[in-house]
Amino acid sequence: MVTSFVLKVASRCNLNCSYCYMYNLGDKTYLKQPKFMSVDTITVFAEKLYTYCKENKLNYLQIVFHGGEPLLLSKDFYRESIRIFTDIVKDVYFDFVIQTNGVGLNNEWYQLFNNLNIRVGISMDGPQKYHDEYRVFHNGKGSYNEVREAIQLGINNGLHGILSVVNLKISPRELYDEIKSLDVNSFNILLPDGHFDKLPDGLEKDKINTYQYTLYADWLIELFTIWKQDSNRPNIRFFKTLIQLIAGEDEGDQMLGRRLNGVAVLETNGNLEVADSIRACYEGITRNNINIHTNNIGDIFNDTLFQIYINSHEMVAEKCLNCPVYDICGGGFLGNRFSNDNGFDNPTIYCHDIIKLVTFLQNDLIDSLSEEACAEMGLTKVSYDEIVGELEMSSEIAIKETVKNKLKAYSLV
Ligand code: SF4
Repeated sequence: MVTSFVLKVASRCNLNCSYCYMYNLGDKTYLKQPKFMSVDTITVFAEKLYTYCKENKLNYLQIVFHGGEPLLLSKDFYRESIRIFTDIVKDVYFDFVIQTNGVGLNNEWYQLFNNLNIRVGISMDGPQKYHDEYRVFHNGKGSYNEVREAIQLGINNGLHGILSVVNLKISPRELYDEIKSLDVNSFNILLPDGHFDKLPDGLEKDKINTYQYTLYADWLIELFTIWKQDSNRPNIRFFKTLIQLIAGEDEGDQMLGRRLNGVAVLETNGNLEVADSIRACYEGITRNNINIHTNNIGDIFNDTLFQIYINSHEMVAEKCLNCPVYDICGGGFLGNRFSNDNGFDNPTIYCHDIIKLVTFLQNDLIDSLSEEACAEMGLTKVSYDEIVGELEMSSEIAIKETVKNKLKAYSLV
Protein backbone atom coordinates (compact mmCIF):
# COMPACT_ATOMS: atom_id res chain seq x y z
CA MET A 1 0.00 0.00 0.00
CA VAL A 2 1.26 3.48 -0.79
CA THR A 3 1.45 5.53 2.41
CA SER A 4 4.09 8.07 1.40
CA PHE A 5 3.51 10.63 -1.34
CA VAL A 6 6.34 12.75 -2.66
CA LEU A 7 4.91 15.98 -4.03
CA LYS A 8 7.12 17.53 -6.68
CA VAL A 9 5.78 20.98 -5.92
CA ALA A 10 8.39 22.68 -8.13
CA SER A 11 9.79 21.23 -11.32
CA ARG A 12 12.60 23.77 -11.43
CA CYS A 13 15.53 24.36 -9.12
CA ASN A 14 17.72 27.27 -8.07
CA LEU A 15 20.70 24.89 -8.10
CA ASN A 16 22.14 22.88 -10.97
CA CYS A 17 23.76 19.88 -9.25
CA SER A 18 25.79 17.85 -11.71
CA TYR A 19 24.46 14.42 -10.64
CA CYS A 20 20.79 15.46 -10.31
CA TYR A 21 18.41 12.78 -11.63
CA MET A 22 15.73 15.40 -12.19
CA TYR A 23 17.62 17.53 -14.65
CA ASN A 24 21.03 16.15 -15.48
CA LEU A 25 20.54 12.42 -16.07
CA GLY A 26 18.62 10.92 -18.93
CA ASP A 27 15.24 12.66 -18.84
CA LYS A 28 14.19 16.11 -20.03
CA THR A 29 10.41 15.60 -19.85
CA TYR A 30 10.23 18.00 -16.86
CA LEU A 31 10.44 20.83 -19.41
CA LYS A 32 6.88 20.03 -20.54
CA GLN A 33 5.46 20.33 -17.02
CA PRO A 34 4.16 23.34 -15.09
CA LYS A 35 6.95 24.93 -13.07
CA PHE A 36 4.93 24.79 -9.86
CA MET A 37 2.11 22.71 -8.42
CA SER A 38 -1.11 24.68 -8.05
CA VAL A 39 -3.33 24.86 -4.97
CA ASP A 40 -6.08 23.44 -7.20
CA THR A 41 -3.97 20.31 -7.77
CA ILE A 42 -3.37 20.01 -4.02
CA THR A 43 -7.14 20.26 -3.41
CA VAL A 44 -8.01 17.60 -5.98
CA PHE A 45 -5.24 15.37 -4.64
CA ALA A 46 -6.50 15.79 -1.05
CA GLU A 47 -10.04 14.85 -2.14
CA LYS A 48 -8.75 11.72 -3.88
CA LEU A 49 -6.58 10.98 -0.87
CA TYR A 50 -9.59 11.10 1.42
CA THR A 51 -11.38 8.43 -0.63
CA TYR A 52 -8.20 6.35 -0.93
CA CYS A 53 -7.68 6.38 2.86
CA LYS A 54 -11.32 5.44 3.52
CA GLU A 55 -11.23 2.59 1.00
CA ASN A 56 -7.97 1.23 2.39
CA LYS A 57 -8.61 2.02 6.07
CA LEU A 58 -5.47 4.12 6.30
CA ASN A 59 -4.99 6.42 9.26
CA TYR A 60 -1.38 7.47 8.60
CA LEU A 61 0.15 9.23 5.61
CA GLN A 62 3.46 10.85 4.89
CA ILE A 63 3.54 13.86 2.59
CA VAL A 64 6.98 14.97 1.39
CA PHE A 65 7.25 18.39 -0.26
CA HIS A 66 10.02 17.99 -2.80
CA GLY A 67 11.20 19.42 -6.09
CA GLY A 68 13.06 20.78 -7.95
CA GLU A 69 13.38 23.13 -5.05
CA PRO A 70 10.28 23.37 -2.85
CA LEU A 71 11.33 26.71 -1.32
CA LEU A 72 10.69 28.32 -4.71
CA LEU A 73 7.00 28.29 -3.73
CA SER A 74 5.47 30.89 -1.44
CA LYS A 75 4.86 30.56 2.27
CA ASP A 76 1.14 30.92 1.52
CA PHE A 77 1.30 27.81 -0.64
CA TYR A 78 2.42 25.80 2.39
CA ARG A 79 -0.12 27.38 4.76
CA GLU A 80 -2.87 26.65 2.27
CA SER A 81 -1.68 23.11 1.47
CA ILE A 82 -1.54 22.01 5.11
CA ARG A 83 -4.98 23.53 5.72
CA ILE A 84 -6.38 21.67 2.72
CA PHE A 85 -4.89 18.31 3.71
CA THR A 86 -6.02 18.52 7.31
CA ASP A 87 -9.50 19.87 6.45
CA ILE A 88 -10.25 17.41 3.68
CA VAL A 89 -8.44 14.21 4.69
CA LYS A 90 -10.04 13.78 8.09
CA ASP A 91 -9.09 11.16 10.70
CA VAL A 92 -5.63 10.69 9.26
CA TYR A 93 -2.37 11.40 11.03
CA PHE A 94 -0.02 13.26 8.69
CA ASP A 95 3.76 13.28 8.79
CA PHE A 96 4.71 16.35 6.75
CA VAL A 97 8.30 16.66 5.55
CA ILE A 98 10.09 19.10 3.27
CA GLN A 99 13.34 18.15 1.53
CA THR A 100 15.21 21.26 0.42
CA ASN A 101 18.65 22.27 -0.80
CA GLY A 102 18.63 24.86 2.00
CA VAL A 103 19.21 27.91 -0.18
CA GLY A 104 17.10 30.76 1.22
CA LEU A 105 15.98 28.76 4.23
CA ASN A 106 15.87 31.50 6.84
CA ASN A 107 14.31 31.91 10.25
CA GLU A 108 10.92 32.91 8.83
CA TRP A 109 10.76 29.66 6.90
CA TYR A 110 11.71 27.64 9.99
CA GLN A 111 9.03 29.41 12.02
CA LEU A 112 6.47 28.63 9.38
CA PHE A 113 7.48 24.96 9.16
CA ASN A 114 7.48 24.66 12.95
CA ASN A 115 3.99 26.16 13.07
CA LEU A 116 2.77 23.82 10.36
CA ASN A 117 4.49 20.74 11.82
CA ILE A 118 6.61 20.20 8.73
CA ARG A 119 9.92 18.46 9.41
CA VAL A 120 12.84 19.90 7.45
CA GLY A 121 15.52 17.85 5.68
CA ILE A 122 18.46 19.52 3.93
CA SER A 123 20.64 18.03 1.20
CA MET A 124 24.34 18.70 1.57
CA ASP A 125 27.45 17.16 0.08
CA GLY A 126 30.09 17.51 2.76
CA PRO A 127 32.96 19.97 3.14
CA GLN A 128 32.91 23.21 1.15
CA LYS A 129 35.38 22.28 -1.59
CA TYR A 130 33.30 19.21 -2.54
CA HIS A 131 29.85 20.64 -1.94
CA ASP A 132 30.75 23.66 -4.08
CA GLU A 133 31.97 21.45 -6.89
CA TYR A 134 28.62 19.66 -7.27
CA ARG A 135 25.86 21.71 -5.66
CA VAL A 136 26.19 24.88 -7.68
CA PHE A 137 23.93 27.73 -8.72
CA HIS A 138 23.17 28.12 -12.43
CA ASN A 139 26.05 30.62 -12.67
CA GLY A 140 28.46 27.95 -11.37
CA LYS A 141 28.90 29.46 -7.90
CA GLY A 142 28.87 26.98 -5.03
CA SER A 143 26.04 26.99 -2.50
CA TYR A 144 27.95 25.82 0.61
CA ASN A 145 27.84 29.04 2.62
CA GLU A 146 24.08 29.47 2.22
CA VAL A 147 23.41 25.81 3.02
CA ARG A 148 25.67 25.72 6.08
CA GLU A 149 23.96 28.82 7.42
CA ALA A 150 20.54 27.24 6.89
CA ILE A 151 21.63 24.08 8.73
CA GLN A 152 22.95 26.03 11.67
CA LEU A 153 19.78 28.10 11.88
CA GLY A 154 17.78 24.90 12.01
CA ILE A 155 19.55 23.22 14.93
CA ASN A 156 16.93 22.89 17.68
CA ASN A 157 14.70 24.98 15.44
CA GLY A 158 12.96 22.43 13.18
CA LEU A 159 15.80 20.81 11.23
CA HIS A 160 15.18 17.08 11.13
CA GLY A 161 18.31 15.87 9.35
CA ILE A 162 20.87 16.12 6.60
CA LEU A 163 21.03 13.97 3.49
CA SER A 164 24.26 13.44 1.52
CA VAL A 165 24.96 11.50 -1.64
CA VAL A 166 28.10 9.40 -1.20
CA ASN A 167 31.02 11.00 -3.03
CA LEU A 168 34.11 8.79 -3.19
CA LYS A 169 36.32 11.85 -3.61
CA ILE A 170 35.49 12.91 -0.04
CA SER A 171 37.24 10.76 2.53
CA PRO A 172 34.85 9.31 5.12
CA ARG A 173 36.86 11.10 7.82
CA GLU A 174 36.39 14.49 6.10
CA LEU A 175 32.68 13.91 5.66
CA TYR A 176 32.22 12.76 9.24
CA ASP A 177 34.16 15.71 10.65
CA GLU A 178 32.03 18.07 8.60
CA ILE A 179 28.81 16.51 9.86
CA LYS A 180 30.07 16.65 13.45
CA SER A 181 31.03 20.30 13.02
CA LEU A 182 27.41 21.02 12.09
CA ASP A 183 26.21 19.43 15.32
CA VAL A 184 23.23 17.68 13.74
CA ASN A 185 21.86 14.58 15.39
CA SER A 186 20.44 12.88 12.32
CA PHE A 187 22.17 12.28 9.05
CA ASN A 188 21.63 9.93 6.13
CA ILE A 189 23.60 8.86 3.10
CA LEU A 190 22.40 7.80 -0.31
CA LEU A 191 24.25 5.81 -2.93
CA PRO A 192 24.44 7.81 -6.17
CA ASP A 193 21.83 7.29 -8.87
CA GLY A 194 23.02 5.52 -11.95
CA HIS A 195 22.87 2.18 -13.72
CA PHE A 196 25.01 -0.14 -15.83
CA ASP A 197 24.95 2.17 -18.85
CA LYS A 198 25.19 5.46 -16.96
CA LEU A 199 27.44 4.76 -14.03
CA PRO A 200 28.04 7.15 -11.14
CA ASP A 201 31.13 9.32 -11.61
CA GLY A 202 34.38 7.40 -11.61
CA LEU A 203 33.02 3.84 -11.85
CA GLU A 204 34.39 1.68 -14.67
CA LYS A 205 31.89 -0.48 -16.49
CA ASP A 206 34.11 -3.50 -17.08
CA LYS A 207 34.97 -3.69 -13.39
CA ILE A 208 31.44 -3.38 -11.96
CA ASN A 209 30.50 -6.28 -9.73
CA THR A 210 33.88 -7.93 -9.87
CA TYR A 211 35.57 -9.34 -6.79
CA GLN A 212 38.10 -6.59 -6.04
CA TYR A 213 36.04 -3.62 -7.20
CA THR A 214 34.16 -2.54 -4.07
CA LEU A 215 34.89 1.17 -3.88
CA TYR A 216 31.59 2.00 -2.18
CA ALA A 217 31.82 -0.83 0.36
CA ASP A 218 35.37 0.17 1.29
CA TRP A 219 34.28 3.79 1.72
CA LEU A 220 31.18 2.87 3.74
CA ILE A 221 33.09 0.46 5.98
CA GLU A 222 35.55 3.23 6.78
CA LEU A 223 32.71 5.62 7.59
CA PHE A 224 31.00 2.99 9.74
CA THR A 225 34.20 2.39 11.69
CA ILE A 226 34.66 6.10 12.39
CA TRP A 227 30.99 6.45 13.33
CA LYS A 228 31.03 3.47 15.65
CA GLN A 229 34.07 4.73 17.53
CA ASP A 230 32.34 8.03 18.29
CA SER A 231 30.51 7.80 21.62
CA ASN A 232 28.46 10.88 20.74
CA ARG A 233 27.50 9.82 17.23
CA PRO A 234 24.55 11.13 15.23
CA ASN A 235 21.99 8.70 13.91
CA ILE A 236 22.93 7.46 10.41
CA ARG A 237 19.80 5.82 9.05
CA PHE A 238 21.52 3.81 6.31
CA PHE A 239 23.68 1.93 8.84
CA LYS A 240 20.84 1.61 11.31
CA THR A 241 18.58 0.02 8.70
CA LEU A 242 21.30 -2.43 7.66
CA ILE A 243 22.01 -3.46 11.25
CA GLN A 244 18.31 -3.95 11.95
CA LEU A 245 17.99 -6.10 8.84
CA ILE A 246 21.03 -8.17 9.81
CA ALA A 247 19.47 -8.65 13.25
CA GLY A 248 16.39 -10.06 11.50
CA GLU A 249 14.04 -7.12 12.01
CA ASP A 250 11.29 -6.31 9.54
CA GLU A 251 12.87 -3.16 8.14
CA GLY A 252 13.74 -1.69 4.80
CA ASP A 253 13.14 0.92 2.15
CA GLN A 254 13.40 1.21 -1.60
CA MET A 255 17.11 0.35 -1.43
CA LEU A 256 17.30 -2.42 1.17
CA GLY A 257 15.29 -5.28 2.63
CA ARG A 258 12.29 -7.20 1.35
CA ARG A 259 9.41 -4.85 2.16
CA LEU A 260 7.00 -3.58 -0.45
CA ASN A 261 7.81 -0.04 -1.53
CA GLY A 262 5.12 2.35 -0.39
CA VAL A 263 6.07 5.59 -2.13
CA ALA A 264 4.41 7.34 -5.07
CA VAL A 265 5.32 10.65 -6.70
CA LEU A 266 2.87 13.42 -7.60
CA GLU A 267 4.22 15.67 -10.35
CA THR A 268 3.46 19.40 -10.64
CA ASN A 269 0.75 18.68 -13.24
CA GLY A 270 -0.98 16.05 -11.07
CA ASN A 271 0.58 13.00 -12.71
CA LEU A 272 1.00 10.11 -10.31
CA GLU A 273 4.15 8.14 -10.96
CA VAL A 274 6.81 5.80 -9.73
CA ALA A 275 9.84 7.03 -7.69
CA ASP A 276 11.34 9.85 -9.68
CA SER A 277 14.98 8.80 -9.42
CA ILE A 278 14.13 5.94 -11.82
CA ARG A 279 14.06 8.69 -14.45
CA ALA A 280 17.84 8.37 -14.58
CA CYS A 281 17.28 5.20 -16.69
CA TYR A 282 16.02 6.89 -19.85
CA GLU A 283 13.82 9.66 -21.22
CA GLY A 284 10.20 9.28 -20.19
CA ILE A 285 10.50 5.87 -18.46
CA THR A 286 8.38 6.93 -15.48
CA ARG A 287 5.70 8.68 -17.51
CA ASN A 288 2.17 7.24 -17.63
CA ASN A 289 -1.35 8.57 -18.23
CA ILE A 290 -2.43 8.56 -14.60
CA ASN A 291 -3.34 12.01 -13.40
CA ILE A 292 -5.24 12.80 -10.22
CA HIS A 293 -7.37 15.34 -12.10
CA THR A 294 -8.90 12.43 -14.04
CA ASN A 295 -7.93 9.27 -12.15
CA ASN A 296 -8.19 7.86 -8.66
CA ILE A 297 -5.09 7.25 -6.58
CA GLY A 298 -5.57 3.47 -6.74
CA ASP A 299 -5.18 3.61 -10.55
CA ILE A 300 -1.43 3.88 -10.02
CA PHE A 301 -1.45 0.15 -9.27
CA ASN A 302 -2.33 -0.44 -12.96
CA ASP A 303 0.92 1.13 -14.12
CA THR A 304 3.29 -1.72 -15.04
CA LEU A 305 6.44 0.11 -13.94
CA PHE A 306 4.77 0.98 -10.66
CA GLN A 307 3.84 -2.68 -10.14
CA ILE A 308 7.50 -3.62 -10.60
CA TYR A 309 8.62 -0.79 -8.33
CA ILE A 310 6.37 -1.62 -5.37
CA ASN A 311 7.33 -5.29 -5.69
CA SER A 312 10.93 -4.57 -6.60
CA HIS A 313 12.39 -6.53 -3.68
CA GLU A 314 10.45 -9.60 -4.84
CA MET A 315 10.84 -9.10 -8.59
CA VAL A 316 14.60 -9.59 -8.71
CA ALA A 317 17.16 -11.19 -11.00
CA GLU A 318 17.82 -14.92 -10.63
CA LYS A 319 21.18 -14.23 -9.03
CA CYS A 320 19.47 -12.32 -6.22
CA LEU A 321 17.00 -15.15 -5.57
CA ASN A 322 20.00 -17.37 -4.89
CA CYS A 323 22.00 -14.86 -2.92
CA PRO A 324 22.74 -15.52 0.78
CA VAL A 325 22.20 -11.82 1.63
CA TYR A 326 19.03 -11.38 -0.44
CA ASP A 327 16.86 -10.77 2.66
CA ILE A 328 19.07 -7.82 3.60
CA CYS A 329 19.83 -6.40 0.17
CA GLY A 330 16.54 -7.12 -1.57
CA GLY A 331 18.32 -6.82 -4.92
CA GLY A 332 18.98 -3.12 -4.33
CA PHE A 333 17.16 -0.04 -5.61
CA LEU A 334 15.31 -0.71 -8.88
CA GLY A 335 16.93 2.22 -10.72
CA ASN A 336 20.41 0.90 -9.94
CA ARG A 337 19.60 -2.42 -11.65
CA PHE A 338 18.91 -1.04 -15.08
CA SER A 339 20.94 -1.84 -18.19
CA ASN A 340 20.13 -1.14 -21.83
CA ASP A 341 20.49 -4.87 -22.60
CA ASN A 342 18.49 -6.42 -19.75
CA GLY A 343 16.14 -3.73 -18.50
CA PHE A 344 15.78 -4.36 -14.75
CA ASP A 345 16.86 -8.02 -14.92
CA ASN A 346 20.19 -7.44 -13.14
CA PRO A 347 21.50 -7.31 -9.59
CA THR A 348 22.22 -3.72 -8.55
CA ILE A 349 25.43 -2.01 -9.69
CA TYR A 350 26.29 -2.01 -5.95
CA CYS A 351 25.90 -5.80 -5.59
CA HIS A 352 29.45 -6.61 -4.54
CA ASP A 353 29.59 -3.50 -2.37
CA ILE A 354 26.47 -4.60 -0.50
CA ILE A 355 27.83 -8.13 0.01
CA LYS A 356 31.10 -6.79 1.38
CA LEU A 357 29.41 -4.23 3.61
CA VAL A 358 26.81 -6.67 4.96
CA THR A 359 29.43 -9.32 5.76
CA PHE A 360 31.55 -6.71 7.52
CA LEU A 361 28.62 -5.40 9.57
CA GLN A 362 27.35 -8.88 10.41
CA ASN A 363 30.77 -9.99 11.67
CA ASP A 364 31.17 -6.76 13.59
CA LEU A 365 27.77 -7.24 15.21
CA ILE A 366 28.64 -10.81 16.19
CA ASP A 367 31.87 -9.61 17.79
CA SER A 368 29.93 -7.18 19.95
CA LEU A 369 27.24 -9.63 21.13
CA SER A 370 27.24 -12.59 23.48
CA GLU A 371 27.14 -16.12 22.04
CA GLU A 372 23.61 -16.57 23.40
CA ALA A 373 22.36 -13.39 21.72
CA CYS A 374 23.90 -14.46 18.40
CA ALA A 375 22.34 -17.91 18.69
CA GLU A 376 18.95 -16.33 19.44
CA MET A 377 19.20 -14.16 16.33
CA GLY A 378 20.62 -16.99 14.22
CA LEU A 379 23.76 -14.97 13.47
CA THR A 380 26.90 -16.72 12.31
CA LYS A 381 30.09 -15.29 10.87
CA VAL A 382 30.17 -14.92 7.11
CA SER A 383 32.89 -14.07 4.63
CA TYR A 384 32.76 -11.92 1.53
CA ASP A 385 34.79 -14.52 -0.40
CA GLU A 386 32.40 -17.34 0.49
CA ILE A 387 29.31 -15.41 -0.51
CA VAL A 388 30.76 -14.21 -3.79
CA GLY A 389 31.93 -17.78 -4.49
CA GLU A 390 28.52 -19.19 -3.65
CA LEU A 391 26.86 -16.65 -5.89
CA GLU A 392 29.03 -17.66 -8.86
CA MET A 393 27.99 -21.29 -8.50
CA SER A 394 24.45 -21.36 -7.27
CA SER A 395 21.27 -21.04 -9.31
CA GLU A 396 19.04 -23.51 -7.50
CA ILE A 397 16.10 -21.14 -7.49
CA ALA A 398 14.92 -20.22 -10.96
CA ILE A 399 13.33 -16.87 -11.73
CA LYS A 400 9.74 -17.14 -12.94
CA GLU A 401 9.48 -16.59 -16.68
CA THR A 402 6.70 -14.02 -16.17
CA VAL A 403 8.85 -11.99 -13.78
CA LYS A 404 11.88 -12.17 -16.07
CA ASN A 405 9.81 -10.97 -19.02
CA LYS A 406 8.45 -8.01 -17.04
CA LEU A 407 11.92 -6.96 -15.90
CA LYS A 408 13.37 -7.38 -19.38
CA ALA A 409 10.52 -5.52 -21.07
CA TYR A 410 12.34 -2.25 -20.24
CA SER A 411 15.48 -3.21 -22.16
CA LEU A 412 16.35 -0.87 -25.02
CA VAL A 413 17.55 -3.55 -27.44
S1 SF4 B 1 23.85 -8.65 -2.99
FE1 SF4 B 1 23.74 -8.73 -5.21
S2 SF4 B 1 23.01 -10.77 -5.74
FE2 SF4 B 1 22.62 -10.40 -3.54
S3 SF4 B 1 20.52 -9.66 -3.47
FE3 SF4 B 1 21.88 -7.89 -3.56
S4 SF4 B 1 22.05 -7.37 -5.72
FE4 SF4 B 1 21.24 -9.43 -5.58
